[in-house]
Amino acid sequence: MNLLIIGAPGAGKGTMSERIMDDYHLIHVSTGDMLRAAVKNETAVGLKAQEYMNRGELVPDEIIHDIIVERFSQDDMEAGFLFDGYPRTYAQAVDLDEILKQLGKKLDCVINLNIEDQELIERITGRRLCPACGEIYNIYTKPSKVEGVCDRCGESLIQRKDDNLESLQVRLSEYHKNTQPVIEYYQELGIVKDVDASKDKEDVYSDIRDILEGLC
Ligand code: ADP
Ligand code: ZN
Repeated sequence: MNLLIIGAPGAGKGTMSERIMDDYHLIHVSTGDMLRAAVKNETAVGLKAQEYMNRGELVPDEIIHDIIVERFSQDDMEAGFLFDGYPRTYAQAVDLDEILKQLGKKLDCVINLNIEDQELIERITGRRLCPACGEIYNIYTKPSKVEGVCDRCGESLIQRKDDNLESLQVRLSEYHKNTQPVIEYYQELGIVKDVDASKDKEDVYSDIRDILEGLC
Protein backbone atom coordinates (compact mmCIF):
# COMPACT_ATOMS: atom_id res chain seq x y z
CA MET A 1 0.00 0.00 0.00
CA ASN A 2 1.39 3.41 -1.00
CA LEU A 3 -0.08 6.42 0.77
CA LEU A 4 0.24 10.12 1.06
CA ILE A 5 -0.81 12.26 4.01
CA ILE A 6 -1.47 15.91 3.39
CA GLY A 7 -2.56 18.81 5.59
CA ALA A 8 -1.60 22.24 6.88
CA PRO A 9 1.27 22.68 9.36
CA GLY A 10 0.03 21.42 12.73
CA ALA A 11 -2.80 19.35 11.23
CA GLY A 12 -1.19 16.22 12.70
CA LYS A 13 0.64 14.67 9.75
CA GLY A 14 3.62 13.59 11.86
CA THR A 15 1.56 12.15 14.71
CA MET A 16 -0.80 10.25 12.42
CA SER A 17 2.10 9.00 10.30
CA GLU A 18 3.69 7.41 13.37
CA ARG A 19 0.49 5.53 14.12
CA ILE A 20 -0.02 4.39 10.53
CA MET A 21 3.57 3.23 10.31
CA ASP A 22 3.26 1.14 13.45
CA ASP A 23 0.03 -0.53 12.36
CA TYR A 24 0.67 -0.99 8.65
CA HIS A 25 4.47 -1.28 8.53
CA LEU A 26 4.89 1.32 5.86
CA ILE A 27 8.08 3.28 5.30
CA HIS A 28 7.56 6.84 6.53
CA VAL A 29 9.07 9.41 4.18
CA SER A 30 8.84 12.94 5.55
CA THR A 31 10.62 15.53 3.41
CA GLY A 32 10.48 17.90 6.41
CA ASP A 33 12.33 15.39 8.62
CA MET A 34 14.82 14.63 5.85
CA LEU A 35 15.49 18.32 5.32
CA ARG A 36 15.87 18.99 9.06
CA ALA A 37 18.39 16.14 9.28
CA ALA A 38 20.28 17.61 6.30
CA VAL A 39 20.36 21.04 7.99
CA LYS A 40 21.59 19.50 11.22
CA ASN A 41 24.35 17.57 9.44
CA GLU A 42 25.25 20.63 7.34
CA THR A 43 25.09 18.69 4.06
CA ALA A 44 25.00 20.52 0.70
CA VAL A 45 21.20 20.11 0.61
CA GLY A 46 20.90 21.31 4.20
CA LEU A 47 22.90 24.45 3.55
CA LYS A 48 20.71 25.30 0.56
CA ALA A 49 17.45 24.53 2.37
CA GLN A 50 17.86 26.11 5.78
CA GLU A 51 17.06 29.73 4.98
CA TYR A 52 13.85 28.80 3.19
CA MET A 53 12.82 26.56 6.05
CA ASN A 54 13.45 29.09 8.79
CA ARG A 55 11.34 31.63 6.94
CA GLY A 56 8.58 29.07 6.45
CA GLU A 57 8.93 29.13 2.66
CA LEU A 58 8.96 26.05 0.48
CA VAL A 59 12.32 24.63 -0.54
CA PRO A 60 12.79 24.68 -4.37
CA ASP A 61 11.29 21.74 -6.28
CA GLU A 62 14.68 20.64 -7.75
CA ILE A 63 16.09 19.99 -4.29
CA ILE A 64 13.02 17.99 -3.32
CA HIS A 65 13.21 16.00 -6.58
CA ASP A 66 16.79 14.99 -5.79
CA ILE A 67 16.07 13.85 -2.24
CA ILE A 68 13.06 11.81 -3.37
CA VAL A 69 14.95 10.07 -6.18
CA GLU A 70 17.77 9.35 -3.76
CA ARG A 71 15.25 7.93 -1.27
CA PHE A 72 13.74 5.60 -3.89
CA SER A 73 17.21 4.23 -4.63
CA GLN A 74 17.04 2.45 -1.26
CA ASP A 75 15.14 -0.83 -1.60
CA ASP A 76 13.17 -0.63 1.69
CA MET A 77 10.54 1.39 -0.23
CA GLU A 78 9.32 -1.88 -1.79
CA ALA A 79 7.42 -2.56 1.45
CA GLY A 80 5.02 0.32 0.73
CA PHE A 81 5.46 3.93 1.73
CA LEU A 82 3.76 6.83 3.39
CA PHE A 83 4.73 10.26 2.09
CA ASP A 84 4.29 13.02 4.63
CA GLY A 85 4.65 16.66 3.57
CA TYR A 86 5.34 15.70 -0.04
CA PRO A 87 4.28 16.55 -2.75
CA ARG A 88 3.64 20.11 -1.71
CA THR A 89 3.43 21.80 -5.11
CA TYR A 90 1.66 20.93 -8.35
CA ALA A 91 5.05 20.48 -10.05
CA GLN A 92 6.14 18.01 -7.33
CA ALA A 93 2.92 16.01 -7.83
CA VAL A 94 3.48 15.76 -11.59
CA ASP A 95 7.11 14.86 -11.01
CA LEU A 96 6.15 12.16 -8.48
CA ASP A 97 3.77 10.59 -11.02
CA GLU A 98 6.64 10.34 -13.47
CA ILE A 99 8.99 8.83 -10.86
CA LEU A 100 6.35 6.29 -9.79
CA LYS A 101 5.51 5.37 -13.38
CA GLN A 102 9.15 4.57 -14.09
CA LEU A 103 9.27 2.37 -11.01
CA GLY A 104 5.98 0.64 -11.89
CA LYS A 105 4.33 1.91 -8.71
CA LYS A 106 1.18 3.88 -7.92
CA LEU A 107 -0.47 5.78 -5.11
CA ASP A 108 -3.43 4.07 -3.49
CA CYS A 109 -4.80 6.86 -1.36
CA VAL A 110 -4.31 10.46 -0.25
CA ILE A 111 -5.39 11.21 3.32
CA ASN A 112 -6.36 14.86 3.54
CA LEU A 113 -6.33 16.28 7.10
CA ASN A 114 -8.79 19.18 7.22
CA ILE A 115 -8.60 21.89 9.88
CA GLU A 116 -9.18 25.64 10.17
CA ASP A 117 -6.12 27.91 10.23
CA GLN A 118 -7.26 29.45 13.50
CA GLU A 119 -6.87 26.16 15.36
CA LEU A 120 -3.34 25.71 14.10
CA ILE A 121 -1.87 28.79 15.75
CA GLU A 122 -2.06 27.36 19.28
CA ARG A 123 -0.95 23.94 18.09
CA ILE A 124 2.15 25.29 16.38
CA THR A 125 3.30 28.14 18.60
CA GLY A 126 2.78 25.96 21.71
CA ARG A 127 4.53 22.91 20.25
CA ARG A 128 7.64 21.58 22.00
CA LEU A 129 9.56 18.49 20.95
CA CYS A 130 11.84 16.00 22.63
CA PRO A 131 14.95 15.66 20.43
CA ALA A 132 15.82 12.31 22.05
CA CYS A 133 12.62 10.24 22.01
CA GLY A 134 10.45 12.28 19.63
CA GLU A 135 7.60 12.92 22.08
CA ILE A 136 5.52 15.98 21.18
CA TYR A 137 4.17 18.38 23.84
CA ASN A 138 2.14 21.56 23.79
CA ILE A 139 2.56 24.22 26.47
CA TYR A 140 -1.17 25.07 26.27
CA THR A 141 -2.84 21.71 25.80
CA LYS A 142 -0.31 19.02 26.73
CA PRO A 143 2.47 20.45 28.92
CA SER A 144 5.28 18.30 30.28
CA LYS A 145 5.17 17.74 34.05
CA VAL A 146 8.32 19.80 34.55
CA GLU A 147 8.51 22.79 32.22
CA GLY A 148 10.98 22.22 29.37
CA VAL A 149 11.80 18.62 30.34
CA CYS A 150 10.61 15.42 28.64
CA ASP A 151 8.37 13.24 30.86
CA ARG A 152 9.48 10.12 29.06
CA CYS A 153 13.24 10.47 28.98
CA GLY A 154 14.29 13.61 30.89
CA GLU A 155 15.84 15.36 27.89
CA SER A 156 15.45 19.15 27.48
CA LEU A 157 12.62 20.01 25.09
CA ILE A 158 13.20 22.11 21.99
CA GLN A 159 11.08 24.30 19.76
CA ARG A 160 11.37 24.04 15.97
CA LYS A 161 12.93 27.18 14.47
CA ASP A 162 9.91 27.66 12.21
CA ASP A 163 7.30 27.16 14.96
CA ASN A 164 6.81 30.88 15.57
CA LEU A 165 3.87 33.03 14.50
CA GLU A 166 5.71 34.80 11.69
CA SER A 167 6.98 31.63 9.97
CA LEU A 168 3.64 29.90 10.58
CA GLN A 169 1.82 32.63 8.67
CA VAL A 170 4.16 32.11 5.72
CA ARG A 171 3.74 28.30 5.97
CA LEU A 172 -0.05 28.65 5.98
CA SER A 173 -0.08 30.94 2.99
CA GLU A 174 2.32 28.60 1.13
CA TYR A 175 -0.05 25.78 2.01
CA HIS A 176 -3.13 27.50 0.60
CA LYS A 177 -1.36 28.76 -2.49
CA ASN A 178 0.80 25.74 -3.40
CA THR A 179 -0.56 22.65 -1.68
CA GLN A 180 -4.29 23.17 -2.23
CA PRO A 181 -3.73 22.59 -5.99
CA VAL A 182 -2.02 19.29 -5.12
CA ILE A 183 -5.18 18.14 -3.33
CA GLU A 184 -7.26 19.14 -6.33
CA TYR A 185 -4.92 17.21 -8.60
CA TYR A 186 -5.49 14.02 -6.59
CA GLN A 187 -9.21 14.74 -6.24
CA GLU A 188 -9.47 14.53 -10.00
CA LEU A 189 -7.86 11.11 -9.82
CA GLY A 190 -10.50 10.16 -7.23
CA ILE A 191 -8.08 9.00 -4.54
CA VAL A 192 -8.55 11.68 -1.85
CA LYS A 193 -10.13 10.74 1.50
CA ASP A 194 -11.04 13.68 3.73
CA VAL A 195 -10.55 13.49 7.48
CA ASP A 196 -11.64 16.03 10.11
CA ALA A 197 -8.35 16.79 11.86
CA SER A 198 -9.83 19.15 14.45
CA LYS A 199 -11.09 16.16 16.46
CA ASP A 200 -9.26 14.47 19.30
CA LYS A 201 -6.13 12.53 18.22
CA GLU A 202 -7.66 9.12 18.91
CA ASP A 203 -10.79 9.96 16.91
CA VAL A 204 -8.77 11.25 13.98
CA TYR A 205 -6.72 8.07 13.92
CA SER A 206 -9.81 5.91 14.17
CA ASP A 207 -11.23 7.66 11.08
CA ILE A 208 -7.96 7.06 9.25
CA ARG A 209 -8.00 3.39 10.22
CA ASP A 210 -11.51 2.99 8.85
CA ILE A 211 -10.32 4.39 5.53
CA LEU A 212 -7.22 2.19 5.42
CA GLU A 213 -9.15 -0.95 6.38
CA GLY A 214 -11.35 -0.30 3.37
CA LEU A 215 -8.27 -0.36 1.17
CA CYS A 216 -6.62 -3.48 2.57
P1 ADP B 1 4.95 21.63 8.42
O1 ADP B 1 3.96 20.88 7.60
O2 ADP B 1 4.65 21.60 9.87
O3 ADP B 1 5.23 23.02 7.92
P2 ADP B 1 7.28 19.95 7.54
O4 ADP B 1 8.16 19.33 8.53
O5 ADP B 1 6.54 19.07 6.62
O6 ADP B 1 6.35 20.89 8.40
O7 ADP B 1 8.14 20.99 6.65
C1 ADP B 1 8.97 21.99 7.24
C2 ADP B 1 9.59 22.86 6.15
O8 ADP B 1 10.41 22.04 5.28
C3 ADP B 1 8.61 23.53 5.19
O9 ADP B 1 8.13 24.76 5.70
C4 ADP B 1 9.48 23.72 3.95
O10 ADP B 1 10.38 24.80 4.11
C5 ADP B 1 10.30 22.46 3.93
N1 ADP B 1 9.68 21.37 3.14
C6 ADP B 1 9.29 20.15 3.62
N2 ADP B 1 8.77 19.39 2.64
C7 ADP B 1 8.82 20.14 1.50
C8 ADP B 1 8.43 19.92 0.16
N3 ADP B 1 7.89 18.76 -0.24
N4 ADP B 1 8.62 20.94 -0.73
C9 ADP B 1 9.17 22.10 -0.36
N5 ADP B 1 9.57 22.37 0.89
C10 ADP B 1 9.39 21.40 1.82
ZN1 ZN C 1 12.01 12.32 25.44
